[in-house]
Amino acid sequence: MPRLNRNALVVGAGIGGLSAALTLATNGWKVDVAEIKEENFTVGVGINHPANALRALQRLGVYDEVAAAGYHYQGIRRFGAGGRLIEEFRPTDPPDVPFQISMTRADLHAILTKAVTDRGVKLRLATTWTDFTDGPDGVTVELSDGSRNRYDIMVGADGIRSPLRTRLFPGNDPVATGYACWRLAVRRQPDMVLSEYWNSGQAKATVLHLNAETMYLLVVEAGSWSHIPERSAMSRMLVDRLRPMGGLIAYVRDTIRPDSDIHWAVLEEVFLPSPWFKGHVVLIGDAAHAVTPHLAQGAGMAMEDAIVLAETLDGAEVPQALETFMARRYERVKYVQDQAHAILVNEMEPDPQAKAAFAAALGARQQEITARLSVPA
Ligand SMILES: Cc1cc2nc3c(=O)[nH]c(=O)nc-3n(C[C@H](O)[C@H](O)[C@H](O)COP(=O)(O)OP(=O)(O)OC[C@H]3O[C@@H](n4cnc5c(N)ncnc54)[C@H](O)[C@@H]3O)c2cc1C
Repeated sequence: MPRLNRNALVVGAGIGGLSAALTLATNGWKVDVAEIKEENFTVGVGINHPANALRALQRLGVYDEVAAAGYHYQGIRRFGAGGRLIEEFRPTDPPDVPFQISMTRADLHAILTKAVTDRGVKLRLATTWTDFTDGPDGVTVELSDGSRNRYDIMVGADGIRSPLRTRLFPGNDPVATGYACWRLAVRRQPDMVLSEYWNSGQAKATVLHLNAETMYLLVVEAGSWSHIPERSAMSRMLVDRLRPMGGLIAYVRDTIRPDSDIHWAVLEEVFLPSPWFKGHVVLIGDAAHAVTPHLAQGAGMAMEDAIVLAETLDGAEVPQALETFMARRYERVKYVQDQAHAILVNEMEPDPQAKAAFAAALGARQQEITARLSVPA
C-alpha cells in the first residue's frame, strides 16, 4: 500500500501543470506548483476544446465554468484558392458534450487557477528547481527559493522547452516543422457565427470565435526561427498574407493596425520516446509531446495526461503507476501527433491536385479521429 498523505511537486503552471495539480489535490495529495514566471498569467490568444478535451474538463470538474466562458462552435466555411467555397460544415453535437468550445487562454487559465487554489494547492511563483536527487522513496528537490523538500513524485509540465526534459532525456529538443503561425485576437460582431478557413496556397488562415466579444485569427505559412519578423513590420506582413482572402478573414485584415498585438511563432513538435519518466519524475503535456495545432489537441492531451496520471497513482506505488500511465498514454498521443502533422503537411501542399484530394478526404479523416478520441483516455 502506498504511504498516506503523499505529496507532489508540479513544475509549471500551464494547462498541464494546473490540471495535474487539480487532479492530484482532488485525490488527496498535498501539491506544490513551482512556476518560473513572476506573475500568474498565460501567453497566447485562444484555445479550442474538441469533444474529448471537453470530457477531460468535465473530469477535472471545471466544465461548467469553461462552457459559460467560451463559445459553442456552430460550424465552419472552408474556402480554397480564389475564394471558391469548398464546404460548409455544421456539426452535430455528441450526446454528452458540445462538438467544440473555444475560449480565451486567459479565461481558461483563470478557471484552472481558481480550481487549484480552492483545493489548497500552493502556487509558488518565480520558483523553479535547481537540482534534484531521486531515491527509493521519492525525489528530493532543491528549489530556487533556497528550500529543499522530499516529494513522492515530481511532475514536469514545463512546456515545449522543458528544462526537466533536457536534464532527464537530453537530445530530445523541439523539432521545427518548417512552418510558422501568426495569431491575433480581434473584436467579434454578434452576427458572425460560423468560423472561416481560407487557403491561398502560400498561407492558410482560420478565424474562430472565442466568446461573445472576441474572435481569433490563426495564420499558418512556411517559416523558421532564422527569419523572425521585425515587430515593426508585423502588421504590414500579416496584412499582405491576408490580401488574397475574403469574408471574415478580410474583415479581420481590415482591423489590423501598426500597434495590433500580433503573436508570431514557429510551429514545433516534441517526440519523446516512451517512457516519459525516470524514477519518481514524469513529464506530461508539451514537455513530452508538443503537437502542431492542426487538431486543437495539445491542451486536451495535456489535460488527459493529468487525469490518467492521478488515476493510475490512486492506490498504487509511483513506479508501478508510471508504467501503467505510459501504457495508457503513449499510443493515443502518438496517434494525435501523427494525424495533426499529416494535416499540416497536406494543407501546405504546393500541388493543387494533391491538396484537393486531401481536402476532399479531410471530413472522413476528422470523423475517424473524433471517433477514436471519443474512447475515454
Ligand atoms: C499556435 C498554437 C495554437 C494552439 N491551439 C490549440 C488549441 O486550439 N487547442 C489545444 O488543445 N491546444 C492548442 N495548442 C497547444 C497548447 O497550447 C499546448 O499543448 C498546451 O498549452 C500545453 O500545455 P503545457 O502545460 O504542457 O505547457 P505550457 O502551457 O507551455 O506551460 C508550461 C509552463 O511551465 C512554465 N515553466 C517553463 N519552464 C519552467 C521551469 N524551469 N520551472 C518552472 N516553470 C517553468 C512556463 O512558464 C509555463 O507556465 C496550440 C499551440 C500553438 C502553438
